[in-house]
Amino acid sequence: MAHRVTLIPGDGIGPEVAAAARIVLDAADVGIEWIERPAGTAALDDYGELMPEETLDAIRESRVALKGPITTPVGTGFRSVNVALRQGLDLFGAVRPARALPGVPIRHPSVDLVVVRENTEDLYAGIEFERGSPEAAALREELRALGGYELREDAGITVKPISVSGTRRIVRFAFEYAQRNGRKKVTVGHKANVMRYSDGLFLRTAEEESRAYPDVAWEEIQIDHLTSRLARMPGDFDMLLLPNLYGDIISDLCAGLVGGLGLIPGANIGWEYAVFEPVHGSAPDIAGEGKANPIAMILSGAMLLRHIGELAAAENVEWAVDEVLARGRVRTPDLGGSSTTMQVAEEIAMQVTAWEPGPS
Ligand code: NAD
Repeated sequence: MAHRVTLIPGDGIGPEVAAAARIVLDAADVGIEWIERPAGTAALDDYGELMPEETLDAIRESRVALKGPITTPVGTGFRSVNVALRQGLDLFGAVRPARALPGVPIRHPSVDLVVVRENTEDLYAGIEFERGSPEAAALREELRALGGYELREDAGITVKPISVSGTRRIVRFAFEYAQRNGRKKVTVGHKANVMRYSDGLFLRTAEEESRAYPDVAWEEIQIDHLTSRLARMPGDFDMLLLPNLYGDIISDLCAGLVGGLGLIPGANIGWEYAVFEPVHGSAPDIAGEGKANPIAMILSGAMLLRHIGELAAAENVEWAVDEVLARGRVRTPDLGGSSTTMQVAEEIAMQVTAWEPGPS
């Protein structure tokens, strides 16, 4: 086999969309050896943890993984596995392309955006202090001593660190992505007027680093203004570069612009490892019903193919998805159809097999 890829089906609709993506990538026939490993609630029973070390080791060994969504139990003290994975493997850049797809009716047909999200810092760094804990009390004291800040005794606290080094690498990553992929403009979203020392630093560092890329235009915009502009005129934007939390929220907004979460792929990329996963979550409301749209996971697989150098196969899979969507006969309920996850996958796999590349 030419490529070893770790496959993490995950929770909820994860196993369904993972099986679907596997069929399509196998049809692309580039010799993938799948190393399937558990994570999420499936792993909790057997391993006592949501992200077993064995699964992390498999990713370290294969260097690339295709991952389904993982449920984060809310309010139980569990840390998000996704956040831990991105930090643990230092997957500092998330790339989430949102483009209008054929046959999917949307309000703004000109949308063709790429969101680049910083993945390891900001309010998602995991630095938290529980309300009423001795640590929260000590931090309150420290803040009072340092700057006279008065925090209520019943406050929980989450810290927002943004560093120059962490920002520099994501800015370079974004601009180099722009150069490699023919993108013309990077828009940096922030709230620097309110969070001067975190967002302000992000903005200033982005401005400095962007000077090294004179062929790519850059602009900055306040994050609240960005949401309204995106809703009204998404065609104004080419690439968005965002700190972690804003990147998470704006990715879902962009998914909404092009027809929903079932369509948007994603990549988490670091210097050594890369994990590809759809933007959507485990969708417990439709899990096990065969209704999940597998396209986000399949397109995440296409991004994986491109990352491992299988460019023709990546194009083939993307073309096959477009073809099936354009015909409109086989589609899942989120797109107004009545086909199952597997029927969509099989239809796309059939197109993949039928593909004849033109002269290059
Ligand atoms: P979600 O993305 O799972 O679902 C939001 C809505 O979109 C639901 O109505 C769902 O049915 C629909 N949807 C999502 N994916 C779809 C698909 N492929 N086809 C058709 N419809 C789809 O978001 P949520 O409900 O906020 O989160 C559920 C769980 O997923 C939570 O535990 C959350 O922490 C987790 N989550 C995980 C990841 C990840 O693993 N990367 C990302 C986001 C959320």
